[in-house]
Amino acid sequence: MGSTVITTCVLCGEVEETHDHLFFLCRYSSKIWKSLNARARIHWPNLPWSRLKNWAIGRYRTKGKTKFVIPKLLLASAIYHIWMERNRRSFNNQFTPARKVEEDIFQLIRAHLINGVKVDDLPPAQRLIWEV
Ligand SMILES: [Zn+2]
Repeated sequence: MGSTVITTCVLCGEVEETHDHLFFLCRYSSKIWKSLNARARIHWPNLPWSRLKNWAIGRYRTKGKTKFVIPKLLLASAIYHIWMERNRRSFNNQFTPARKVEEDIFQLIRAHLINGVKVDDLPPAQRLIWEV
């Protein structure tokens, strides 16, 4: 008897759940990414998602650089919210539409910007996007 457990992704119900799939490639998650990136006007380098994560960790290590704050927040918040949605579906049978999760992520980043960053240091275009 094989003991390998294959878990199907709870976000789409179609594919085996791997981290790359769950967080980035799933059509549920990629819908969230696509609209957040467009809204934040962030252009990520053209790398596979698993490598992008390491790229971002290396690049954004420098603290206090205001221009890195937003992509860093976006990556962390999106991963966190997608993980929470996965758990809500798995354990509570509770489904949140991608549009709602996207808005939650946007508002979380906005709250972080208001509380944690010198908003005056942000370029005007960024302040407009994030309404801060
Ligand atoms: Zn999926």
